[in-house]
Amino acid sequence: MIKFTPILLAVLYGLVMYRFSIWRTKRELDDRSTELVDPMLNTLLARMAAALEIDRIRVYLYEIDPVNGLAAPDGRIFITRGFYYKFRQGEVSADEMASVIAHELGHVALGHARRRMIDFSGQNALRTALAMVLSRFIPGIGVWIANGLTTLLAARLSRSDEYEADAYAAALLTKAGIGLTPQISLFEKLEELTRSRAGALPAWLMSHPKTQDRIAALKALQDRWDGISKV
Ligand SMILES: [Zn+2]
Repeated sequence: MIKFTPILLAVLYGLVMYRFSIWRTKRELDDRSTELVDPMLNTLLARMAAALEIDRIRVYLYEIDPVNGLAAPDGRIFITRGFYYKFRQGEVSADEMASVIAHELGHVALGHARRRMIDFSGQNALRTALAMVLSRFIPGIGVWIANGLTTLLAARLSRSDEYEADAYAAALLTKAGIGLTPQISLFEKLEELTRSRAGALPAWLMSHPKTQDRIAALKALQDRWDGISKV
């Protein structure tokens, strides 16, 4: 029994962290966001809502500067003020904004937002438990190995989420008559933006796999769909 106590503690710690991070995220988002009202974007949102056969898609404006889009665990979609500013300035088109919203809708529809919170807390618990167990056998580097293993697992999990959300967005944008072009052009634009300001990688890209790989995956989807529609 004594042997399992550290693991039990780690799991408990993970659960508490999980509840706490949901609570904190929700409060932060409630305090610093309002519903986004933009006639140009609303037209596109209405088309996507029609494609999904729902009444409307609500998007919220989150008052922070980093360029980012996010899906909260409660299913709300947020676009940051920094991202919206790029749209207002004409650096990002309405279609491209729609592609980000479609991507975030994908995370919600596919259950990623909720799962990611579990992943995050689960990772903490797993890291702690692994470190405790491994340290007994390999003092010193046990913690390193635990960190490495957990990080590797987390990266694999989030990477597949991104490709899935991209594919969901591609299907939705196609059905809404917007197409995959803005999705691809936004990736290229954001990468350009990154290169011009060395080191200042937009948060939205930082948490995502390589842009070129994502573009290639989208082009493969498009080729496949073009092939199907020609048959
Ligand atoms: Zn994403």
